[in-house]
This record gives sequence, structure tokens and C-alpha cells, in this order.
Amino acid sequence: MKFRLSILIALLCNASVDTLANENPASCTDSDEPMVQVLGSGGPIADDGRASSGYLVWIGGRSRFLIDAGGGIFLRFGEAGARFADLNHIAISHFHTDHSTDLVALLKSGYFSNRTRKLPVSGPAAGGDYPGTGDYLKRLLDQDHGAYAYLDGYLDGSAGLVELESIEVDPTLTQASRVYQDPDADIEIFALGVPHGPVPTLAYRIRIGQRSIVFSGDQNGSSDAFIDFARGTDVLVMHMPVPENISGVGRKLHAPPSLIGKIAAETGARKLLLSHFMARSLENREENLQQIRSRFGGTLVSAVDLDCVGF
Ligand SMILES: [Zn+2]
Repeated sequence: MKFRLSILIALLCNASVDTLANENPASCTDSDEPMVQVLGSGGPIADDGRASSGYLVWIGGRSRFLIDAGGGIFLRFGEAGARFADLNHIAISHFHTDHSTDLVALLKSGYFSNRTRKLPVSGPAAGGDYPGTGDYLKRLLDQDHGAYAYLDGYLDGSAGLVELESIEVDPTLTQASRVYQDPDADIEIFALGVPHGPVPTLAYRIRIGQRSIVFSGDQNGSSDAFIDFARGTDVLVMHMPVPENISGVGRKLHAPPSLIGKIAAETGARKLLLSHFMARSLENREENLQQIRSRFGGTLVSAVDLDCVGF
């Protein structure tokens, strides 16, 4: 049995061992139950020893849904035993580098898979300095102007590549939009815009039968609509890149730990999976976690890369 560092730290700190003891990373490929695997629990700076943002939802031991594709998740995807051919949908929260740069690397990897069916990719519509999802893919892959024009077959399903179907969601909508459904398997994915400064950003909710998981995306925590969107979910994934005393731009973009705890409590989520750490939020990690624990009474899991967590 692997004795993970996070468990050891929890034991040494004598603090809520059960809430910090992360689950066996091998169980995502073995479980018949829906599981979420953290591909990247880090932020945009290469100083936290973690990949940037990315998550896999496994169903029946297959890697079905990828949420975000930040730098480093390409490696973790392989380490997790995930298969490109098994993906049913890729959902990108926003086009900051730490959520999107490994997408094209994964697409190249997918060239070598035996996939034949189309692959839907959802993400936000354009806004400010940021392209919409369709334009993002074109700027990468387009034959005339794309940086990786040699992969342009992904735009139309030619040259032995599978077609990417881009699905854009207007992040200013106050109602959630459905971006995926599989009636046979009773699975749906919904997207809702969340406030992340000037960056068009989406949260996602995946419903699998009676269970659900919500990915908050990066956000400053000021949206009441997000509370409704996440209400009653089994697993709530939230990002903690900033410490409690954050101010300025950081506060405009992100929620401090106390607000994360308040939001998690208000949604009634059963389990909170904390992720997207940065050195500045890890520095006083216990203090920051305490801000959350004092407000949220459910199970708290502080992610490390490749953690596999049940719903
Ligand atoms: Zn981020």
C-alpha cells in the first residue's frame, strides 16, 4: 500500500486526518463508480511542484470527461492511464494558459489513438482579449494561419484526424446551458458563466444519474447564480490560488479561503475538493484550510496531482 505524503502530513499535523487523507490514485481505473481524478492541482507559476489545472471524470474505469487542460496535464493524463479514445467531451473553463495550453499536445497524442468518433469541446464565447472556443481552435489548427497547421484535420475530420465540435457558451447568460447529453447513460453537462475579472470563464456541472460534480473554474466568488448552480452537488471542486489576506488584482480574480468555505456551505455540497494551489496559498496552508473548515462541515479533500476521489 502506498503511503502518500498528504496522509503523512495530515498525521504529523494531527489535524482532521480523515479530511486530508486522499484516496488511492490507482482506484480511478479500477472502480465501477464515477470518480474524479486531479490531473493538475497547481497554478500558473512553475514553482509549486504541481501540474496546472485539469481533471478527469472516470465512469466504469474509463476516462470520459476532461475538464481543463493546463500545462503539465499532458504528462498526468498518461500517468493516470487515461485514453484519448475514451473521451466523450472536453470542457475548458477559460483560456488562461494554466487551463488550456496542453490541449493541443493532447490532440497530437490523440492522433496515435484508434479514435474514430467526433470529439466535442466546450468553452466560453469570446470576450476582451480572449478568443471564443471555436476561434481558439482555429488559431491553433487552421491551415492558413494556425500555429499547428499540420493538425488542421481536427477542424474538419480529414487527414485521419477526428473532427472537433466546438460548443461556445456565452458566460454572461444567467441561466445554465447544456453542452452535453447522453440519454442512454443518463449523463448531462451544464455550463454557467462565473466572475473571473475580465476573463470569460465557465463553471461546469456534470450529472451522472443521481450523482453530480461541479467544477467552479477560477472565480472571485461573487456570483449568487453559481450557488444555485452548485446546490446539492456530491462533489464541489473549488480553486484556492490565493491566501486569506489577498487584495488587488488577485482578489478581483479569485475567492479567499473564507469565501470558498462560505460558498461550499451554502451549496450544501457533500464533499469539497480543493485544488489549483499556488505557492502563496500553500505557504500558510493549514491556516487557509482552517478558514474553510470553520465554515464548511462536509468532507474536505486537499488535492495533490493524480488524486482519485469518489462522488
Ligand atoms: Zn487558473
